[in-house]
Amino acid sequence: MPFNGLGLSDSLLKAIGELGFEKPTPVQAKAIPLILQGKDIIASAQTGTGKTAAFGLPTLDRLEPGKRIQCLVLEPTRELAQQVVDALESYSKHLSTRVGVVYGGVKYGRQREMLDKGVDILVATPGRLLDHIGQGNISLKNVQVLILDEVDRMLDMGFLPDVSRLIKMCPKDRQTLFFSATIPAAIQSMMKWVLSDPEVIEIGRNRSAAETVTHAFYPVVQQQKYDLLIKLLEQTQFESVLIFTRTKLNADLISRRLERLKHSVAVLHSDRAQGERTAALKGFKSGKFEVLVATDIAARGLDIAGVTHVINYDVPLNAEDYVHRIGRTGRAEKEGDAFTLLTEDELKNAAAIEHFVGQKIDRKKIEGFDYMYSRLFEEEEKTASRKANSRAYGRLSR
Ligand code: AMP
Repeated sequence: MPFNGLGLSDSLLKAIGELGFEKPTPVQAKAIPLILQGKDIIASAQTGTGKTAAFGLPTLDRLEPGKRIQCLVLEPTRELAQQVVDALESYSKHLSTRVGVVYGGVKYGRQREMLDKGVDILVATPGRLLDHIGQGNISLKNVQVLILDEVDRMLDMGFLPDVSRLIKMCPKDRQTLFFSATIPAAIQSMMKWVLSDPEVIEIGRNRSAAETVTHAFYPVVQQQKYDLLIKLLEQTQFESVLIFTRTKLNADLISRRLERLKHSVAVLHSDRAQGERTAALKGFKSGKFEVLVATDIAARGLDIAGVTHVINYDVPLNAEDYVHRIGRTGRAEKEGDAFTLLTEDELKNAAAIEHFVGQKIDRKKIEGFDYMYSRLFEEEEKTASRKANSRAYGRLSR
């Protein structure tokens, strides 16, 4: 179905056309007509599925610009809040709707000025929003549409109590749009009191990366991890590489070391000042920095195009994050490569990822790298070949 069959106004269709969107994504095709009818929805769609437009477009059509906060969008991180506001501004190019954003880590002054002028849609992270409410800069009494985005991440980050407080400040008689990639128990109980007679939209969970991404594990002992990373970078013709680390400390250490090797590097994690975070992301997107070292918390969900390589310095703890991280490359039909360094203590996580994606992931060695011996990797190979043999034997003896 084309966009013009969904019931959106001409002004929005014009903006969508200018953005080059040709047809709605599955979540858009399902959600837009329901939201236009005023229904509450629960959508289990991940970032990258076009969910911002799925909630943004119909909401923009339903509001009557009047510079009072009629729609509140809650986001877990500052970068996502900024990304959503940028998207909403591009969709509302031909409307008079005013969109604003508040998040922490920056001064209050400009946010207060923007709020004084009045906005129709406010995108916010929970902590800073509560601060503004406490200072009397914001009232939620006119909210007609409440959008809770990435609810599972808000849960991971410990924001659910703040989010619950904010929901209670909105009028009961409102439309609620609830987006969460996964629905753990804490979220299920929240859904009961937050939503009224919701329609459920499920967009299949992405269990594999795009076919354009080649990915492999690189077993290495802990002491040689950093050396192997450097070797990988030396051997690779990359234009832009995204390195994920589990800790902020490692992100800082690696970026400093790469800088010393004359790479242009930016760092993204939650302890960095907001100005630095914004500059890092902007510089990486524009090509000013060839390397971005990031922790998951800062990087998940961000829409970064043109990444040629992803390197996981640590194996992700959550199997789904693996698919998500390597999906940062190979976007829009371009070729991409993803390397994951694998140490002995991460074998269990690696197995969980293989179970999740339903395939064995290749183990690779780099020629000319002086590997230290690890018994565990050898045992892993033996177990794998024993399993393969017994499966083959099972087939023969049937
Ligand atoms: P999101 O899941 O909202 O973060 O969107 C992911 C990316 O898909 C963004 O760069 C959007 O601009 C883009 N996008 C959203 N809807 C469409 C569409 N219907 N056609 C093409 N691109 C889209």
